[in-house]
Amino acid sequence: MTSPMFEKIALVGIGLIGSSLARVIRREGLAGHVAISTRSAATLKRAEELGLGDSYTTDAKEAVHNADLVIVSVPVGSSGAVAEEIAPALKKGAILTDVGSTKASVIAQMQPHVPDGVHFIPGHPLAGTEKSGPDAGFADLFDNRWCIFTPLPGTDPDALERLSEFWRRCGANIDTMDPQHHDMTLAIVSHLPHIIAYNIVGTADDLESVTKTEVIKYSASGFRDFTRLAASDPTMWRDVCLHNKDAILEMLARFSEDLAFLQRAIRWGDGDKLFDLFTRTRAVRRSIIEAGQDIDVPDFGRQAVEHPSKN
Ligand code: NAP
Repeated sequence: MTSPMFEKIALVGIGLIGSSLARVIRREGLAGHVAISTRSAATLKRAEELGLGDSYTTDAKEAVHNADLVIVSVPVGSSGAVAEEIAPALKKGAILTDVGSTKASVIAQMQPHVPDGVHFIPGHPLAGTEKSGPDAGFADLFDNRWCIFTPLPGTDPDALERLSEFWRRCGANIDTMDPQHHDMTLAIVSHLPHIIAYNIVGTADDLESVTKTEVIKYSASGFRDFTRLAASDPTMWRDVCLHNKDAILEMLARFSEDLAFLQRAIRWGDGDKLFDLFTRTRAVRRSIIEAGQDIDVPDFGRQAVEHPSKN
């Protein structure tokens, strides 16, 4: 039996991401002790029932005490308050990281509270589902997904390598980039698709000429695929929109321009333009499959893949 990578890991926040980490940490034997903390007694009780860790508390300071690795997995708008709360209890030499979907804002919120001697390395695993809470996690969530670090100038290379190795052992591939670049990239690959999905589902929900029963009944024609994204956690996505505002507005502006182009092609019966665009986008789907980021079965593999809700 190999020795664990970290004596003690503290997970602050035990929802989809925190509980997936808890499960893979146990499966891979990455920690001698996993301390779990979450804001509410109800979520904590559920984490304990699921046996996700070794100790449980609603006091984040208690959880991070003596931890070698602290992973904050809370909505991005709460990361500053959490950092402020845990800062006095962080051990010298500990690695502090997060999993937030926006990076510049999380850094601005957390960094001022990080004590000297603690290695703060912001991170973001690009893996998730539309589910939330401790029941939603599963151990192979991060398999062959990317985890992006946005290290601050002066980051200790050994700490960065240790954290990278931890994520590799959780199944992820590692990339590093600056926070602004991360936020711009994620605005197009993640934030915009969610906003578009929220918008289209909202539009359908508002329609009066088509009844709600028809929207549901005929949803397999395409609408259904948007509803998965639009079922994502409202708190998380409210925070993402508010905390990556500039990059999202930039991408929305480009999107609106391109939509106007499409609208014009439809209005003027310009079939060539439509055909060219639809051919180009098909190639994008092929590249995603070739990169191993989706599987090439009909219907997004809905019937083919089953995610166990517990490991
Ligand atoms: P989740 O399932 O909703 O769990 C959220 C956790 O944060 C719970 O433990 C919750 O505690 C706690 N929390 C909520 N509000 C809080 C507050 N104001 N102060 C302190 N703790 C609070 O969320 P998740 O999907 O794991 O997301 C966590 C982070 O991962 C977010 O920053 C998100 O951007 C990022 N992320 C999510 C995904 C995804 O697909 N879901 C993917 C990559 C990264 P209680 O339940 O006890 O209230």
